[in-house]
Formats: sequence, C-alpha cells, structure tokens
Amino acid sequence: MQVGALEGSCLRFAPFFRWVFVLWFMMVSTEVVAQRAEIQHEGRTYIDLATAGGQFGMKAYWLKGHTIFRLRSQWTNVDLGKEKKILHLNGLPIYLGFPTIESSGRLYMAKADYQHVLQSILTPQAFSGKPGFRRIVIDAGHGGKDLGAKNDAYKLYEKDLNLDVARRLKSMLETAGYEVVMTRNSDVYIPLERRPQIANRENGDLFISIHFNAAGSSTAEGFETFALTPQYQASSKYSKPGRGDSARFDGNEQDPWNTLLGYHVQRSLVKRVGGPDRGLKRARFLVLKHLDCPGVLVELGFVSNPATAQKLRTAVFRQTLAQSLFDGIALYGKRLQRIP
Ligand SMILES: [Zn+2]
Repeated sequence: MQVGALEGSCLRFAPFFRWVFVLWFMMVSTEVVAQRAEIQHEGRTYIDLATAGGQFGMKAYWLKGHTIFRLRSQWTNVDLGKEKKILHLNGLPIYLGFPTIESSGRLYMAKADYQHVLQSILTPQAFSGKPGFRRIVIDAGHGGKDLGAKNDAYKLYEKDLNLDVARRLKSMLETAGYEVVMTRNSDVYIPLERRPQIANRENGDLFISIHFNAAGSSTAEGFETFALTPQYQASSKYSKPGRGDSARFDGNEQDPWNTLLGYHVQRSLVKRVGGPDRGLKRARFLVLKHLDCPGVLVELGFVSNPATAQKLRTAVFRQTLAQSLFDGIALYGKRLQRIP
C-alpha cells in the first residue's frame, strides 16, 4: 500500500523528473560499458578482449584456471596470456607491441595491437588502400663479398642458399602467371638501401626478402618472419619502446598488409615444413623501412643447426622451402581478392 502510494505521488508530482532520471540512468550505464570496453594504461588505450572478440563475432572465455584468454569462432582460435607480449592465432605465435593487462577479471590488449594484429589478419577489409597483386619482388639477401650466415663444416653460405631459393620461387611464380623482379640474380653485392629502391622503381606489389639464420648455439632451429614494426612500438627483441620507436617510415603506410602477408607466409612455412614455429615478429630492417609496397623478411632456418644444414644441402628441401613461400604469397593474394 505504502509503495503504491509512493509511486502514485511520484507520478503525480514529478513525471518530468522521472524521465530525466531514466535518461540520466541510460547515459550512466552506457558510460560504464564504454569504460569497461576501453581503459587507459601508461598513456595508451587498451581494449577489452571480450568486446574486441564480439566485433569479430567470436566467443570469449578464460581457459586453464584463468591463465589463458581465448577468442573463438568456427575457424579461428586466438589465445592470449596475462602480461604477455605474444598471442597465438591458430597456434601461430605473433609478437605484440605491448603486453596484455588484466583489470577487474578482464583481459585487455593495446588498441594498437588490436589494429595491427587482429584486425589486419581477421578483417583486413577494415583498412583502405588495398594493394595490387601482380608484380612480386624477390630479394635474395646478401651476395658477393657479403656472405651472410655460414656453416663451414657443411660448406653452406647464406648468400648462395638465398639465391637458390629465390630462383626456385621465381620460376614457380612465373609459371603461375606473376611478374617477378629479382633484386639480384647472380652472386653480386647490393647495398641494403638499394633493395627497396629497386622494388619501388619497378612498381612492385609485394616484396619478400629471403634469408637464413645462424646462432652461437647449434640447437637453435625453426622459421621466423619479420614485418616492419609499427610506429611507437618496440621491435620484438626489445621489451619496451625507446626513443627511436616514434619514427614513422614509408613502409608503415602498408602496416595492415605487411601483417597479413607475414601471417600467411609464416603459416605456410610451418604447415609445409614443420616447426619449431618462431612466429611472426617485428623489426625495423632497412630493406622493409623504405618500401612503397607490402613486404616481409623471412629467416628460413639456422645453417648453424647440423640437422637443418644437412637438409639444406638437398635440392628437394630447398624446393620445399620455395614452395611454402609460394603458398604463403598465393594465400595472401586470395585473401586480398576477397576484399571488395
Ligand atoms: Zn641474412
């Protein structure tokens, strides 16, 4: 009775204020949602991963006793840990610009990473300036006086391996109808800065730089693919951004396409040749900084690893490496075709 009387008096005395209250409540509750969807941390915007996943139509939930956060759709799994600067997209490690953060039981990723990694790979149609896909520039690393990595015991020199795989890739691409430009097609020395200049002068649509690794430890093995580090981020080998990381280069105009290309190339390598998968990483390599087209640099294994060195001596294995690069480039092209 009393409640009814109170309601009655409210309705009678203040119908206007009631609507004001309803409007105020709606505004406040929307703001609460917005605050949760995006938070500020160390001067950067972070986005709630459950909200981000929703934008891709993905389910979001914690796994393994609240240690791994998963975004999931029919074909895609994205796994992220707390305070981790890496995510796994269908198992493929992708290095982020900034570690994830947990707040009030929710996991957040830097909005920059959301754009440079998730959007670039999952919904590249969100970006304008879709690149062409006709003329492929292959850059065989090193050459001439610059031997690159080497394994004397197996008589392996990186410059020779790079050129061998580059030529195999060239022939596959030409058979498939692409135009191919080589930055070098013989054992000559070409300065680093000349290589992107050649790609730009020839109006290349895609640039792939081929390399092999070496390490002090003979156990190091696996593939890695590098895309240009986005502005304001640290490259993958550094934990935090430094003074030089605010620089922006011509190659950063291609950020979404660099990531998309890198993802498909790394994925194809691991799929066809096997692991360990060292992932898609970021670096400001000179050959990538001044490109006018999308580009990546691949490290096709460690010549310092005896098992890898043994395989690299066989033409069959080098052909397989070239074939997986071809697959990655073709998959990237197919993905571009699906963008209107
Ligand atoms: Zn190299």
